[in-house]
Amino acid sequence: MTASSSQRIIADHPEEECAVFGIYDTAGDAARMTYFGLQALQHRGQESAGIAVDDGASIQVKKDLGLVTEVFSEQNLTRLEGVAAIGHCRYSTSGEVGSVQSAHPFVVQVGSTRVALAHNGTLTNPGELVDYLENAHVHEEIHTDSEAAAYIIAHETEKSGSVTAGIAAAMQIMRGAYAMVVIAQGALYAFRDPHGIRPLTAGKLPGGGWAVASETCGLDIVGADELRDVGPGEVIRLNKEGMTVTQGTAPAHRSTCIFEYVYFARPDSVIDGRTVYQSRVSMGRMLAHEAPAQADLVLGVPDSGVPGALGFSQVSGIPFADGIVKNRYTHRTFIEPTQALRRQGIRIKLNPLPSVIAGKRLVVVDDSIVRGNTAKELVQMLRDTGAAEVHLRIICPEVKWPCFYGIDTAARGQLLSANMDVEEARAWLGADSLAFLSEAGLIDAVRGYGPTVDATTDRCTHDGFCLACFNGEYPVR
Ligand code: AMP
Ligand code: SF4
Repeated sequence: MTASSSQRIIADHPEEECAVFGIYDTAGDAARMTYFGLQALQHRGQESAGIAVDDGASIQVKKDLGLVTEVFSEQNLTRLEGVAAIGHCRYSTSGEVGSVQSAHPFVVQVGSTRVALAHNGTLTNPGELVDYLENAHVHEEIHTDSEAAAYIIAHETEKSGSVTAGIAAAMQIMRGAYAMVVIAQGALYAFRDPHGIRPLTAGKLPGGGWAVASETCGLDIVGADELRDVGPGEVIRLNKEGMTVTQGTAPAHRSTCIFEYVYFARPDSVIDGRTVYQSRVSMGRMLAHEAPAQADLVLGVPDSGVPGALGFSQVSGIPFADGIVKNRYTHRTFIEPTQALRRQGIRIKLNPLPSVIAGKRLVVVDDSIVRGNTAKELVQMLRDTGAAEVHLRIICPEVKWPCFYGIDTAARGQLLSANMDVEEARAWLGADSLAFLSEAGLIDAVRGYGPTVDATTDRCTHDGFCLACFNGEYPVR
């Protein structure tokens, strides 16, 4: 596929929610450390995994469809020798069979410049990327926006001789959400779009060297400390000389994805200095203020609904109970390709405990409602198990708009709240009551403010977060 005919391909296959990891490890076991980092980040993508390693002279890559532990063996990890490595795991696109051609990292060559790149996010101007590559006479097969970015960086690096300058030049061309890691010329680079939409943090390794990861839980596992977020528009270079920070492009209005706090990130991660677990507890506390309920027990839908349920219980005084058991050996249900499989997947994943819930009025706290399948199936299961009442409480506002920045939230037609108001949704889900956290309540929760009942504040629109899937106000064209 040449650059010109790849335009349609890039536009039709945006990258979904993913994880990136990178390491410059003077101890020389960069690939194995990346393998551990990716395992900690596996919740961000289960479709494919890949690692690329730079030994100073050449770049090797191993990637395939599957979980990190399925793609890598002792044998192939041992073969990936080098001090600098990057890794990636990729989220499945809804309804599509995964392709290894979309697996990261992408290793590309322009002239004598070889670059490996992994990306979390989505570039929203594929046409301009293709035009650039055409004008630059780069006529390679290109399958995704991320691969186009790798070629642009390689081309600009070949022109200037500097990878940092090559990345900075590419940042002038790329639009949308990107948290990227690159290895080239024996060094590791990490950079983030000017709005800081997707998270990216760097840290220092105990034995010398550096690591970067989409979430801090990926850095914890390799023992990194002195953590530092990669700032919006920054380019960080990590090599034997240490860390060099440059502003690749001017920072724009900060728009960090608030959905990371609601659902995507692991609770033990800290994003831009804010703890995901505490944010979720606070969301539940806010919700108890905004939408109280008369009930006997508060349950959380495991895993991401549980901290919110604890918060709801703390403020309402209704006891928290462990009433829904989760099967740990299933993938997230959202990634199942068809509606029927998704519903079956929910039954495999969640099972209510009759001894806890029979005859009880329940508040059930979940992180979000997207298509509504999980909530509908769950309400039915709870009723079948003998619940007297089910009051659904959701720790974010109604998801009404698709995400164009790297999270698969489905098309508008499939989003429950884009098509039904709260009362219609309640009736369709079969719940006794249904309430969503307000935008202001969500922002206050993430910022660590105390519970507030004031949903009229305008803080929510100017506060450094992207909330576009709730309010349609997209920070990037
Ligand atoms: P649904 O059944 O479509 O309403 O899915 C809602 C559930 O899927 C939520 O409770 C989350 O656990 C999870 N979820 C929310 N957003 C996403 C997303 N963008 N991708 C994958 N899973 C999601
Ligand atoms: Fe996150 Fe929603 Fe914005 Fe997408 S639209 S970046 S999911 S807040």
